[in-house]
Amino acid sequence: MGKTYSIAIDGPAGAGKSTIAKALAKELGFCYVDTGAIYRTVAYFLDLLGVSPKDADGVERYLDELTIGIEYDEEGKQHMIMNGMDVSGEIRTQDISQKASLVSAYPIVREMLLDMQRDVARKNNVIMDGRDIGTVVLPKADVKIFLTASVEVRAKRRYDELIEKGQKAELSQIQKEIEQRDYQDTHRPIAPLKMAKDSVKLDTSDLDIAGVLAEMKRIIGEKIPV
Ligand code: C5P
Repeated sequence: MGKTYSIAIDGPAGAGKSTIAKALAKELGFCYVDTGAIYRTVAYFLDLLGVSPKDADGVERYLDELTIGIEYDEEGKQHMIMNGMDVSGEIRTQDISQKASLVSAYPIVREMLLDMQRDVARKNNVIMDGRDIGTVVLPKADVKIFLTASVEVRAKRRYDELIEKGQKAELSQIQKEIEQRDYQDTHRPIAPLKMAKDSVKLDTSDLDIAGVLAEMKRIIGEKIPV
């Protein structure tokens, strides 16, 4: 197999990672891998079984019964398959966001998902987004970008997204949940959210999507032939 390129995008919730990564992947013909969706699938599976994400023994006991598949449709959209069932829609709730953040702190969970993520990058040109892509999953990624924005801007983006999907949302509550998730994701002992040393930081607070895309393309173009 020839050389494959990988672009790692990390950052906190609501920084715009998935919107931007999806658009870039389409433009560059790369495969977009949303790793948060994988953690969400684990959280959803445990939730269905009634296992609390704080119950370490329960998480460990039931993990063996979970098989996760990542599939892509003709439009390149990622689908999460939980024991044969497509749960891509079900995992997109605020409740599952919180539970995914708790579940993702267990070393056993992170270990189980590591190879799956690396495997996709071995076989494809990828744009992978998450929290530990540049630091742990793909430390040799060709391009590493750390996307961030103020907590107020991130909360407003999440709020707009949920409202657009017809879900109920309250801005102050979302901001509180994002702050809590930021805290959990940056303070866990294993693979915490942090900027890789060789990552380029991009604050998107004052940029619109077109502005972020232009800046990202400039950063990527300096590192790989696209
Ligand atoms: O990106 P998203 O908001 O879907 O991620 C849900 C949760 O999954 C995050 O809050 C984080 O705790 C966890 N996650 C992670 N490592 C990744 C991607 C997501 O720990 N690479």
